Amino acid sequence: MTVSRGRQFLSIPGPTNIPDAVLAAMHRPAIDIYAGDMIDITRTLLEDLPKIFRTSGQTYVYAANGHGGWEAALTNVLSRGETVLVLESGLFALGWGEMARIMGVKVDVLKGDARRAVDPAAVAQRLAADTAHEIKAVLVVQIDTASGVVNDLPAIHRAIESVGHPALLMVDCVASLGCMPFEMDAWGIDVAMAGSQKGLMTPPGLAFVAANERAHAAHQKADLRTRYWDWTFRNGEAHYQKYGGTPPEHLLFGLRKALDLLLEEGLDAAARRHALLAEATRQAVARWAEGDVVAFNVTRPEERANSVTTVLTQGRDPAPLSDYCREKCGVVLGRGIGELQGRAFRIAHMGHVNAPVALGVLGAIEMALAALGIPHGRGGVQAAVEYLGREVRP
Ligand SMILES: *Cc1c(COP(=O)(O)O)cnc(C)c1O
Repeated sequence: MTVSRGRQFLSIPGPTNIPDAVLAAMHRPAIDIYAGDMIDITRTLLEDLPKIFRTSGQTYVYAANGHGGWEAALTNVLSRGETVLVLESGLFALGWGEMARIMGVKVDVLKGDARRAVDPAAVAQRLAADTAHEIKAVLVVQIDTASGVVNDLPAIHRAIESVGHPALLMVDCVASLGCMPFEMDAWGIDVAMAGSQKGLMTPPGLAFVAANERAHAAHQKADLRTRYWDWTFRNGEAHYQKYGGTPPEHLLFGLRKALDLLLEEGLDAAARRHALLAEATRQAVARWAEGDVVAFNVTRPEERANSVTTVLTQGRDPAPLSDYCREKCGVVLGRGIGELQGRAFRIAHMGHVNAPVALGVLGAIEMALAALGIPHGRGGVQAAVEYLGREVRP
């Protein structure tokens, strides 16, 4: 017996739910790439993307996933033999650093803890010790999608400034852009990158890199530049140069609609919606955790992300729970990755998500906990409903 027919609820931290309006916007024939609509779409996207990153700098669009965005960001500002400092807080900054290492960049890692955010004081200390200013860039993620940690970017920027270090601040906001406040200029971020398929509600396949003047100055001397990622080439006159070739038209049609939806809702309102649904999720997890199996991965409440919650299943394989949710209920949860493989599941509340979807996912998990006889505190869904009822007033 299952109760899984009906729309599947995809609760993995990317790709996320694609709004029907975005899917519909993509359902059209290919169009001319030299005139008309395509030129207008490019112009408006390049006007709107900096608004999403909150920068007066420039944004570049790549036919690539997030990993491509990582490579685009690195190659445009770095040279072989230079050093970067990676701030560990889970898996993703390490992956970005590994990519830099393979390209011939020296990578220093500020060791972190998979259950904690980056410690800004430790960043200041490490940079203060670099009196020769060997470190050319600091790499950090805003939200680590594996650990479920959110880093305090303004505090990390203050740490860099407090010791007068000139390193570029480079941020991966793949799992946070459109989900929580991100202020590229106000927070002193020089390079930011993101992908289309998480908070931006578009199919996977587009990467974005935003760069300010300091980043463009570093770009002038960077010797890792290659033609496809190169900002100078992309700033050329011809339209095809904006994409280093044929524009990925249908993804751009979808993105145009998704940005319309996001700007219509408002970035602040979208961030507030994510905060509410994330806290509702945490209310439920906190109740379940009374049974001593389920636990938050991130130990400090203020370091828990608003786009994904990583839940430990202490001493138990999470697979039966995830399998039950998928096969019996039609709810797909994220699995633990990296160190957390086989030890955790992840609940995404990222992008095109509303209260019934978030509560539906929590309901399926609570049903699975009961059906599988996993010890858990009762009333998780009830706590989530009551929280939202208190916060979302008529
Ligand atoms: C998803 C993700 C990436 C990688 O994106 P891909 O599209 O899978 O290459 C990078 N960083 C973070 C924080 C992510 O969540």
